Amino acid sequence: MFAYRVATVPKAGTSATTSRPFSLAVGRGNPAALGYLTTPPARWNPCAPIRYRVNLAGAPAGAAADIDRSIRQVSAASGLRFVKAGTTRAVPGSQGRDVLDTYPRDTQLVIAFVSPGTGKGRSAYLPRRSDTVGVGGAFYTNATTKVGGSSWHQIVQGYLVLDRTKKLPGGFGSGNRSGLIGTWGQVMMHELGHVVGLDHPRPSDPAQIMYPATTTKPAIWGAGDLVALRRIGASSGCLRTPGLEAAAATAPTVGAAGAAGPARAPGQAGAATARAMGDDELGRVDRDAVQALERRH
Ligand SMILES: [Zn+2]
Repeated sequence: MFAYRVATVPKAGTSATTSRPFSLAVGRGNPAALGYLTTPPARWNPCAPIRYRVNLAGAPAGAAADIDRSIRQVSAASGLRFVKAGTTRAVPGSQGRDVLDTYPRDTQLVIAFVSPGTGKGRSAYLPRRSDTVGVGGAFYTNATTKVGGSSWHQIVQGYLVLDRTKKLPGGFGSGNRSGLIGTWGQVMMHELGHVVGLDHPRPSDPAQIMYPATTTKPAIWGAGDLVALRRIGASSGCLRTPGLEAAAATAPTVGAAGAAGPARAPGQAGAATARAMGDDELGRVDRDAVQALERRH
């Protein structure tokens, strides 16, 4: 962060003035090191709140505060609005990959500490026996909509799973120098980046939070992260894919509209907008998140 002042030059009839100091977030690294999960980019509608719930049944102490702070970091950089709706027992990916999750009806994003695999309390998004400590992603409309001269997919449901069996320190500092490096805060910010449509940076740049492995850098958005978060956020305008809200409004229960499919078990509560659409109208993206690599020295 730097403190700035804007000054005016005195001219005939006016005297010099100086603005109040203000600060701008200036990230580290290459501002061109960024990526989006889809082409054209998928993003949330910044003009509606993203309501999220947390599943902390298997979470380490301090996880709730780290999640809230990570959410605030994404919101500050993007202008996206998040509302904490409370807790849930839902586990993203408990029914396998590529299946829309069953969330409480008011919820578009679930953040959960879980174990890898399938079955109760497990997520298929987390690979077993790997360095992966978290996975974030989203379901989005295959249809695109044009706003402000750019085309976009619209994200309708997000998920973020963290591997409760991994031992990482909490917070947003430098973390360990050996063993599993990084912090839960760094991992959460990275995964939330995927949830809002960001990919790993190209060209690669370890100064970015979206770099695909944890590092000992403090968890602060890099320059490329900030450019990408701004682009998918409020500054790119409201996003309303034609038919999305209308389909939701006319679908009192899941499966009431569109072609039936394995992902749309009738009667399940869930993200109404997503479930109101046929399976083939939605795509899903994620990235095997941050790998907290074992590093000995
Ligand atoms: Zn990743």
